[in-house]
Amino acid sequence: MKAVQVTEPGEPFEVVDRDVPDPAADEVRVEVDACGICHSDVFVKEGQWPGVEYPRIPGHEVAGRIDAVGDDVEAWEVGDRVGVGWHGGHCFTCDACRRGNFINCENAKVTGISYDGGYAEYMTAPQEALARMPEDLDSVDAAPLLCAGITTFNALRNTDARAGDLVAVQGVGGLGHLAIQYAHAAGFETVAISRSPDKEDLAYDLGADHFLDASEVDPAEELQSMGGARVVLGTAPSADAMESVAGGLGVDGELVAVAVPGGPVSVPVQQFVTSRNAVSGWPSGDARDSQDTLEFSDLRDITPEIEMYALEDAEEAYDAMLDNEVRFRAVLVPGE
Ligand SMILES: [Zn+2]
Ligand SMILES: [Zn+2]
Repeated sequence: MKAVQVTEPGEPFEVVDRDVPDPAADEVRVEVDACGICHSDVFVKEGQWPGVEYPRIPGHEVAGRIDAVGDDVEAWEVGDRVGVGWHGGHCFTCDACRRGNFINCENAKVTGISYDGGYAEYMTAPQEALARMPEDLDSVDAAPLLCAGITTFNALRNTDARAGDLVAVQGVGGLGHLAIQYAHAAGFETVAISRSPDKEDLAYDLGADHFLDASEVDPAEELQSMGGARVVLGTAPSADAMESVAGGLGVDGELVAVAVPGGPVSVPVQQFVTSRNAVSGWPSGDARDSQDTLEFSDLRDITPEIEMYALEDAEEAYDAMLDNEVRFRAVLVPGE
C-alpha cells in the first residue's frame, strides 16, 4: 500500500510502499477513504510526543470502510463504514476505564501516535476506537468531524449552557467554523469572534447571530453589553485572544479552551470571583462521542469546509495547514 510516514522527527514526510497491515484479534483493518490533517500531527512530525516509535504514519481523522476483521471482533463487519479519531483505544481495566471514563484511560492509545494512522491506504484500529458512520455522510466531510468536529461538539454539549443562552466562539478557523454551526444548531444565541473582518459573512452563513471584529472592538465589552456570555469556547490557539474574551463572561459563565496556546492565559480574577466564572478545558471524546458527532452533523447538515489533497501531496497540505492557508481543513484522499 501507499503510505505517508514520518521516518525521522523534524524531517519531511516520506511517501513509501508498505505491506498492508493485518488486524490483530481485537482489531479491524480500515480501507481509508479520507484522512484530515490536524495541527496535532505536529506532535508526530516534530517529535514533540514522548515515546513515539518511528517511522510512524500520522493521521487521526480517518474515514473509511472495514475490509478485514480480527478473530475476536463481533460487533463490526467487513463493509461497515467507520471513523477513527484521536482517541485510539483504551485498556478497560485502569481506574478511569472502570468508571467508564475511557478518554482519561491511563493507557489510552492515540491514533497515528501510538500506532500507525490514516495517512495511508489502509490502517488497523482496535474495535473500541471505531465510530459507526451514517451511510449518507461523505467520507471527506466526515474526516475532520472526527477531531475538529467532536472536540467542539462535545465541549459545547458538556457545558451548562441551555437553548437561548449567549454562547461565543472565539476564532473562526478549523475548529471555530464547526463550533459556530454546532452552537447555532444547539439553539444558543451564537456570537462569532475573530480578528479577521473578512470572516464576517462566513460567520453569519454558518449560523452566527452576531459577529465581533476583535481587531476593531473590545470583545469582552461587547459581550458584556449583550448581557455576558454563558460560555466562551476558545478555538484559536492564542493566549492573547483567549485573554481578550475572558472579561466577557456573565454570571456562572465559563471559558472553555479547546485550542492550546503556547503560553499561559491570564483571567480577571475579580470578575471570576464576583460572577462565579470558571475557566476549563475539554479534550475530544471517545468513539461513541465521535459517532454522536457524525450523527448530529448528518442530522443538521453540518459540514466542514475542506480542501482535498492526494496522499503524495501530504507535505504541501501540511505546510499549508501550518501557514494558516487552508480554508479550513485539509483532507488527504488516497487515489485522488
Ligand atoms: Zn486533531
Ligand atoms: Zn484504561
